[in-house]
Amino acid sequence: MRKILIAAAECVPFAKTGGLADVAGALAKHLPALGYDARLIMPCHRVIKQRWGAQLEHLFSFSVQLGWRSQYVGIERYCADGATYYFIDNEFYFGDMIYRGGRGEVEQYAFFCRAVLEALPMLDFIPDVLHCNDWHTAILPMLIKTQYGFTALGGIKTLLTIHNIAYQGKYDFAFIRDLLGIEERYNTPEFMESFGSANFLKAGCVFADRINTVSPSYADEICRPEYSEGLDGILNARRHQLSGILNGIDDAVFNPESDPAIPHPFSREDLTGKGQCKKALCGELGLVYDPDRPIIASISRLTEQKGIDLINAALPGMVDLGANVIILGSGAREYEDAMRYAEAHHRGRVCAYIGYNEELAHRIYAGSDFLVMASRFEPCGLSQMIAMRYGTLPIVRETGGLRDSVIPYNRYTGEGTGFSFSRYDASDLYFAVERAVTVYRDKLAMAQLVDAAMAADFSFPRCAQQYGQLYETLLS
Ligand code: ADP
Repeated sequence: MRKILIAAAECVPFAKTGGLADVAGALAKHLPALGYDARLIMPCHRVIKQRWGAQLEHLFSFSVQLGWRSQYVGIERYCADGATYYFIDNEFYFGDMIYRGGRGEVEQYAFFCRAVLEALPMLDFIPDVLHCNDWHTAILPMLIKTQYGFTALGGIKTLLTIHNIAYQGKYDFAFIRDLLGIEERYNTPEFMESFGSANFLKAGCVFADRINTVSPSYADEICRPEYSEGLDGILNARRHQLSGILNGIDDAVFNPESDPAIPHPFSREDLTGKGQCKKALCGELGLVYDPDRPIIASISRLTEQKGIDLINAALPGMVDLGANVIILGSGAREYEDAMRYAEAHHRGRVCAYIGYNEELAHRIYAGSDFLVMASRFEPCGLSQMIAMRYGTLPIVRETGGLRDSVIPYNRYTGEGTGFSFSRYDASDLYFAVERAVTVYRDKLAMAQLVDAAMAADFSFPRCAQQYGQLYETLLS
């Protein structure tokens, strides 16, 4: 049986700030069913101790050297549904903040990586593949190759998954050398130096045996200077060992047939409930209900990445096209204010719900006709996949995972699962919305698109299977 160890800073259901936690959790859960002895290792953040403490089994403890300091490492274990999770315990490093920011965060995760490597022989689990995720665990391949080459860990193959290249873990080399005992000669652009800093993610890109990202298009994009955040040099050099696997969503959580958050369940075969959800949603949010008016929604952080300025610019045009618009999100003050202004200006036609509301998000996915995502960049994106599951057609900018998950409508064949535009430009977004609204008025074409969108497979098992294939290429 192949042994896989996933190392991650966060993992569902224990601690989550973003998509990394979902993928890590899904892999830990689904890989065993595919015949892998897959386990996951992560920090024992305080929230985990609080919620799961009683179920954690203390295995053993030891100390590691971090620079001149000797630090406690406790190893806790939790097993459920065939999955095994290890937690690295140290209350000094892992408290309330999963990510401390700055120097503190570099030290937190330098400690974590050292503790992982020292724990493996004691756990009697030397994986065939060590699967690292983002910069927090990206230094592991370098440590294995430069410091553990002649130990039992020397033969481990490593995979680095980049979930978002914007975060790289950069700091002064002297500090990192002190923490991890890295030799001076690695502080060069050939290895971990990048624009004057020691860079954890770059070290991972140099030393990992394979690299992947969370969508094939993002794998292409990060080789270009516009998207690479300075790492295009090394990524181009390793292009032949860089690929993309689209993330998945949890079909059990996002299921219009059994979702407890939505008032009227529905399915691909019977969409009656979706119409009722739309009516209920308009009532809940104070929008004028008219079955002939499409609802265009956005459920997203209100940040620059998400293209909120384009949505804001195209919004009056959407209303003029006869659509109702719903914005759910929070983030930058100027975008929140712009959305509030739009609501006040188009009462009954636009609703801006500023905040985070998971249940409302489900009802919006269920009751809307279209979901707009105009991102500047999008490593994978989950909202468009969730929307399709609920028969809500995505209108997306062709970037990263949006490009890979949405098939644009072809008016000649009727094929597609949504609508798309390429340039980062508000009028191009508007024209995409216009195409969508035109199709909305053509009941047959719309029904065909909704059916195709709901049939698309974005499940975790598919995603886990593709990771399994990637591990195999590492081991063959
Ligand atoms: P990102 O991780 O970059 O924010 P994704 O599309 O990958 O974007 O995932 C966003 C997830 O967060 C989706 O599940 C979406 O439904 C959810 N979400 C975003 N904003 C809100 C909000 N204000 N309220 C509820 N859910 C939200």
